[in-house]
Amino acid sequence: MMEPERPRIAVSACLLGQPVRFDGGHRKNRLLYELQNWVEFVPLCPEVEAGLGVPRSPVRLVRTPLGNRLVSPRSGEDLTERIRAHAQTRVDALRAMGVVGAILQGDSPTCAPFRARVYDPSGRVTSHAPGAFAAFLRAAWPHLPVESEGRLRDPVLREHFLAQVFALHRWQRFVRSGPRPSDLVWFHTREKLMLLAHSPARAAQLGRLVAGLDRAEDALEAYGTVFAEALATRATRARHVNVLLHAAGMLRDVLTPTERHELHESIDAYRSGWVPLVVPVRLVRAWVRRAGPSWLRDQTYLAPYPDALGLRNAV
Ligand code: SF4
Repeated sequence: MMEPERPRIAVSACLLGQPVRFDGGHRKNRLLYELQNWVEFVPLCPEVEAGLGVPRSPVRLVRTPLGNRLVSPRSGEDLTERIRAHAQTRVDALRAMGVVGAILQGDSPTCAPFRARVYDPSGRVTSHAPGAFAAFLRAAWPHLPVESEGRLRDPVLREHFLAQVFALHRWQRFVRSGPRPSDLVWFHTREKLMLLAHSPARAAQLGRLVAGLDRAEDALEAYGTVFAEALATRATRARHVNVLLHAAGMLRDVLTPTERHELHESIDAYRSGWVPLVVPVRLVRAWVRRAGPSWLRDQTYLAPYPDALGLRNAV
């Protein structure tokens, strides 16, 4: 398979404007339009791909003694197994294509990753649950970052989702470059601050794993799993502050007293919520470029995704 230049993200095709909804409509989403310059979308529509056609009868999730079922209320047909059978092969294909994230339509009884409406047999909404395809996807591929288009309007969730996607893409490129186990030290070193911002506990676990590379055969696979788990933990303001203070400490000898003061002021302002994360990170980055140690200059934390996405302007 060709190495994807940009992270590949599976997307509900209706969100990309494809006319695949039951009534031939779509749900074109502006955010995805803005993202398309930085990632590669892999459109999917489980209902059409499973042969339901356009137009088709709408479907809904119905609570039954056998669990939630995907049903056509008009015909009473139960389509759960048909969608699941399709999901099995589709998920395998997405893995083979190197997909590193999924953005799925948030209300759909098939695609919704978290909260599709669940009806009781009398037609009342009684609860919410993942759609039939999304439930299979999440169970079969627990480390895949998955979001709905609605949740991605939240800047914190958007930043976290894309931080994971770009980190998994870096890992994917590293693995596909055919590394020797000892190259893992190089990868881990560059991700150190990124890992500390997300999960210091997992960062320590990965550090131990890298230190014990004499049992190297399974090291890549083990590292990849824990790396994904680390990134799945959302970075917090407090952990970002710790990382920034760590970076400031490494710059101490190359900054003038005024510059040091300016950097600490900027970190304090971020800690208080007066400025977004981009402000102290940009200061660190500018001074690292001028005279910073190479360890710090190489940290992916300083530029984990394209600046133009503006992700750190709102967190
Ligand atoms: S929500 Fe999913 S199943 Fe429904 S039209 Fe969109 S892509 Fe197809």
